[in-house]
Amino acid sequence: MDRIYNATRTKKIMAKYDLTMKKSLGQNFLVDGNIVKKIVDGARLQKDDKVLEVGPGIGSLTEEVLLRGNSATSIEIDSRFYPILRENFQRFNNFKLVEGDALNDEVWKEANEKPEPNVFMGNLPYVITTPLLEKIFTRSNRFKTVVVMVQKEVADRMTAAPGSKTYGALSVFVSFFSNAKTLFTVSESSFIPRPKVKSAVVKMELKAPEVDGKKFMKFVHIAFNMRRKTLLNSVSKGMDLDKKESLKMITNCGIDPDVRAETLELKSFLRLYENFKQFL
Ligand code: SAM
Repeated sequence: MDRIYNATRTKKIMAKYDLTMKKSLGQNFLVDGNIVKKIVDGARLQKDDKVLEVGPGIGSLTEEVLLRGNSATSIEIDSRFYPILRENFQRFNNFKLVEGDALNDEVWKEANEKPEPNVFMGNLPYVITTPLLEKIFTRSNRFKTVVVMVQKEVADRMTAAPGSKTYGALSVFVSFFSNAKTLFTVSESSFIPRPKVKSAVVKMELKAPEVDGKKFMKFVHIAFNMRRKTLLNSVSKGMDLDKKESLKMITNCGIDPDVRAETLELKSFLRLYENFKQFL
């Protein structure tokens, strides 16, 4: 039988189940075998690695993982796909479908059943990309590798350097939690239906956070909240602190209080965080 990533097979499944895609759930199915293989190759799966996937859709990526002999746990919100996934993967005893919203903590608990997945993979629904990445980063049992397909513009933000136009809170989080790189870009023609924009696949090797990840993200969000304001204004207003006190703490870090957050590298945010964390 043809693979699910084969466009004809995908169309047949869609016709059989009378499926129309929901834009609101970011439903663009991968129908390019090369890309599917390159995504899974990117994770360099070892024999016992167990994959957690968000948004399997009808299972094009999932199938590749299962055929390579690895286990996959897939969280899907759209119940129309449940019978399709069950039918397609009943022959595998290493597939688990978790029904629900990947932003919901209870759903994650079910997906994290022991032995917990140690690799994250997904062609992510663009509507939930940022909150989902934050969830992935702060999971108590750290993933070793995360390979995600996101909009090219998001990939650029994830891997941006300080001072560049696309550098923002997301870039700081990604460099705080991981060593990240864009593996390759993917054109619109690799999907059904075709999205309006290009996509890219980003690989992150997660590292142990130096400080409390959730609190650090909160601080970085505050620093970037008022984009056109100086660091001093963003932080003192955002944290409701006395301006003089904030000025002293920023200067103590050897940082110019008049700079904007988008020029600061990770190291500077860490120094600032050490001073301001008591007020978070
Ligand atoms: N993995 C499939 C592929 O590559 O062909 C489908 C990827 S499609 C871009 C995103 C998938 O995420 C869809 O199946 C959609 O229903 C699902 N999805 C959207 N929001 C979700 C959520 N909050 N939790 C879980 N799945 C979600």
